[in-house]
Amino acid sequence: MAKQNPIPSRCPSCLANAMQQARTTVTSVVKYESAKHTVVAENCPVFVCGDCGEQLYYSETFEIIDRQFRSNIGILLAEEIKKNRNALGLTQVELAAKIRISPESISRWEKGHIRQSRSSDLLLRLFFGLPDVRTCVHAAASDFNFGREVVHASSESSWDSESMGISILAPTLARSVWQAECINQSNAPSPKPANFDDSWPCRLAI
Ligand SMILES: [Zn+2]
Repeated sequence: MAKQNPIPSRCPSCLANAMQQARTTVTSVVKYESAKHTVVAENCPVFVCGDCGEQLYYSETFEIIDRQFRSNIGILLAEEIKKNRNALGLTQVELAAKIRISPESISRWEKGHIRQSRSSDLLLRLFFGLPDVRTCVHAAASDFNFGREVVHASSESSWDSESMGISILAPTLARSVWQAECINQSNAPSPKPANFDDSWPCRLAI
């Protein structure tokens, strides 16, 4: 049920007793990753002055602007991060340890207090979207040699871990990055990498 927001008694601009609740299209500028993004959000609840037209935003207004912004650039909603973490049965501390993010950051992301960076968002999507990544991420992080050299798609991984099934990690990540790029550029997806096998879970065709 929607929260009730008390209507301000007076317009802060002209001081008229004429504030009303309304819904309108709001154009807002959102700062994110050192850039300013113009966001147009439709059907936003606002308070508007019947005399001078002054508009006041409140929490629900900002929530809709935030959702529209996240949709525009393709990052997870705060509630999606929380929902997916809970679906995996992980605490914030446990998820933080697995993907090497501070627990405080996870908490802030889930509350919507700060937005995750695009690179952190990609890491979250890989972790939530691919069981292989969840299996391998801890081993990858604890092997100090992992990632020091490029492993090409057609060659065997030099990283040998009996328990983690690491040989599928590199091609799986390649596909994941490609998919994430497609999600972020839904109207102009990247070319699919060569030698791609469409089966799932994927392996690169060799
Ligand atoms: Zn006014």
